[in-house]
Amino acid sequence: MTDDAGRALRERAELVMPGGVSSPVRAFRAVRGTAPAITRAAGAHLFDNQGNRFIDFVLAYGPHILGHNPPGVREALTEQLGRGVAFGTTTALEVELAERVVDAVPSIDMVRFVNSGTEATMSAIRVARAATQRDRIVKFAGCYHGHADALLADAGSGVATLGISGSPGVPAAAVEATAVLPYNDTDAVKALFAEQGERIAAVIVEPVAGNMGCVLPAPGFLEALRKLCSSHGSVLIFDEVMTGFRLAYGGAQQLLGVTPDLTCLGKVIGGGLPVAAYGGRRRLMALVAPQGPVYQAGTLSGSPLAMVAGCAVLDQLREGNVYEVLEVLGSRMANGLSSAAEEAGVSCVVNRAGSMLTPFLGVVEVTDFAGARRASTELFRDLHAEWLDAGVFWPPSQFESGFISSAHDPSDIDHAVEAFTAFVARVPSPALDTAVR
Ligand code: PMP
Repeated sequence: MTDDAGRALRERAELVMPGGVSSPVRAFRAVRGTAPAITRAAGAHLFDNQGNRFIDFVLAYGPHILGHNPPGVREALTEQLGRGVAFGTTTALEVELAERVVDAVPSIDMVRFVNSGTEATMSAIRVARAATQRDRIVKFAGCYHGHADALLADAGSGVATLGISGSPGVPAAAVEATAVLPYNDTDAVKALFAEQGERIAAVIVEPVAGNMGCVLPAPGFLEALRKLCSSHGSVLIFDEVMTGFRLAYGGAQQLLGVTPDLTCLGKVIGGGLPVAAYGGRRRLMALVAPQGPVYQAGTLSGSPLAMVAGCAVLDQLREGNVYEVLEVLGSRMANGLSSAAEEAGVSCVVNRAGSMLTPFLGVVEVTDFAGARRASTELFRDLHAEWLDAGVFWPPSQFESGFISSAHDPSDIDHAVEAFTAFVARVPSPALDTAVR
């Protein structure tokens, strides 16, 4: 596939935007080649201005669970455009979406809309600190919760991709109260609580991690977090920015049967428009201004356009059989990739939860960030190039989850599996041996 248009766009962009992007992972620094210059999207596909078509497993990093520009959402947006896009006052549309969220997510009695996942997690932490009158927070290595100072310690996603732990510009004081533990390490959490449980305001966790690639919670891990938080008066925050409305209508918490105190949502909830939310128990959310003293605000929060998109998406998710379709497609892909690797004699584990998945090459198990880092990023880079060449758009980092939408059909999945099969067939044994070691 030609990437002349992508290169030309990148050169122009790099002159006027840092790295030529609005968000780091898009820069393709961890893989070869150039991001295609996409001009149009429909269903499961992206198109560049040269007429090339890509099967999209990025889906804007998660939002497009129904595929791009789905019917119903498109009409709702067009109608709302005719009525106006921001009024500076509460609209019925916000209440509509809030009611849907409260109905859907087991732990949410009240919700506040914001504009990004970063705002949602930052604000949830603020509420937790106010509620407990404690400062310490616990996060897990490889989990990414946006780029608020306090959460930018040992994070996944773009932070992992670029190989920087934390970031210059974050004052030491901002992360001083952040403890970082290995994901799935229940003993480490128990030990920390035994030592300083009375000082811990909150534990924040991706209930299924997507930002070190897809990593599932070990049996009992989330339950242990719940128990420890309850017994020490700490707030359990599920960051469901990625998993909310993706793994099940009620999110990972519904699927896994563990109920947090606060939940952060984003991505799917806005149908591709910039919206996120945090919500939870009434006693906690009642602390948020103006009902309570914890300040948090946003000029464009609750944007009518985003609210109608969110309502339209959620209605299709609630009424249809989307999650069944996604499970079938997800298992077809994970099984296809695993079998191809096995037949080629290449070590590989495919971690999957519903329509989120990541192949890790050169390893047989990934349960935490250290494990994800042991996967061969060289092989991932080659795989990514092979996929791009075959018209498969996969996130340009080992440390991002791939996503499937209900607009993908089995032939889209099979095409990606075929390209993967061709790739693993060519993986040279010495490279593999090195990777396995
Ligand atoms: N939390 C999680 C789990 C995420 O995946 C992300 C973004 N990938 C964020 C928070 C931050 O969201 P945003 O990029 O909208 O600030």
